[in-house]
Amino acid sequence: MTFKIADRVKNLAGSPTVSVMDRARRLAAAGRSIVDLSGGDPDFPTAPHVTEAAVAALHEGFTHYTPSRGIPELLQAISRKLAVENGIRYDPGKEIIVMPGGKQALFVAAQALLNPGDEVILFEPCWVSYAPCAELAGARAVYVPMHVDTTAEDLRADLARALTPRTRLIIVNTPNNPTGQVWTAGQLQAVADAALAHDIWVLADEIYERLIYDGRQHISIAGLPGMWERTLTLNGLSKSHAMTGWRLGYIAGPAQLIGELLKVHQHSTTCASSFVQRAAVAALKGPQDYTEMMVRRYQARRDALVAALNTIPGVRCDAPQGAFYAFPHIAAAGLSSMQFTERLLEAEGVAVTPGGAFGAAGEGHVRLSYANSDEMLREGTARIQRFVVELRAAPASM
Ligand code: PMP
Ligand code: GLU
Repeated sequence: MTFKIADRVKNLAGSPTVSVMDRARRLAAAGRSIVDLSGGDPDFPTAPHVTEAAVAALHEGFTHYTPSRGIPELLQAISRKLAVENGIRYDPGKEIIVMPGGKQALFVAAQALLNPGDEVILFEPCWVSYAPCAELAGARAVYVPMHVDTTAEDLRADLARALTPRTRLIIVNTPNNPTGQVWTAGQLQAVADAALAHDIWVLADEIYERLIYDGRQHISIAGLPGMWERTLTLNGLSKSHAMTGWRLGYIAGPAQLIGELLKVHQHSTTCASSFVQRAAVAALKGPQDYTEMMVRRYQARRDALVAALNTIPGVRCDAPQGAFYAFPHIAAAGLSSMQFTERLLEAEGVAVTPGGAFGAAGEGHVRLSYANSDEMLREGTARIQRFVVELRAAPASM
């Protein structure tokens, strides 16, 4: 038999973040001493009251299909959260869908919005799954550079260059993975103006929204004038409530559009897990001090990690404004980000993610997740220091 596979999948690479995480796990299982700073997965356990709600639901026999959009209590809790925290109002019965993870919501949105040949504007560096989700819908990514110094005027000019009659969607991720950048009102307004002028959808990925430092404010682009009608807001509990493995995300938008996403959702997953939805109600409606505790700890780790990285010769790292990743510049080591990552894992057993995985603008950097214990972060930076010092002493032999 000839082994034939669909072109759109044959040409697709697997997820670099997921594959580094898997590789680090395999090496650790095989007995190597691994410091895994690769994936964005909180080291904190899920809060006990959340786990208890899921256990109670299981004991109660809440183990069947739920309404496809999600259970009413959860949809109401999400609607309330979006109104109170984000200033955006969604009808829980028509304008929100709960899905198994924010990633699934992205996939479904891309399937619902994009035609073959369409273009999606991404701000680089950006998370690894946006372009593949667009490509799986037959569309293609167009990149606009974005960093902390990019002004609203720069953005307007870059967007004007990137927009074409095929542009269908703009994806904004604030706080950003991998840089942690928190978008300002001016930067978001530049995107909003482009979307309004050219009649384009916006997908706002706000999954790191709660993880913001130094008193910065998160702004939801859907709340800007005229934007509610053309924005899908994506979020989930993975990062805010240390619930990555539970797989619980959601997406909100105008009823008509959400109705289109719902068809894809019904044909692909039916509904998110029943008992996980009960846990999500507890997470959203219960006390939020657990999240606040995590944010305080992340901020302290961020400060220690950035300080430690900046003592390594040739490594430069700005303090990220949000999320839980540091994105140091390592180009002075004389290796590509992929070579740096591979050799660091080989020589010192430290798993990081190559910056090039987040687009060409990420090259020359690696991403370290500080959703890890203080001890792991200290050990990881000590090993990176040793690796870089040895590399500089004998570049050819490494
Ligand atoms: N968006 C970004 C930027 C992410 O980093 C992640 C992390 N996995 C997700 C969305 C999706 O997270 P999840 O599927 O766990 O909700
Ligand atoms: N979002 C996390 C990361 O970037 C988890 C892996 C993934 O979903 O890509 O590491």
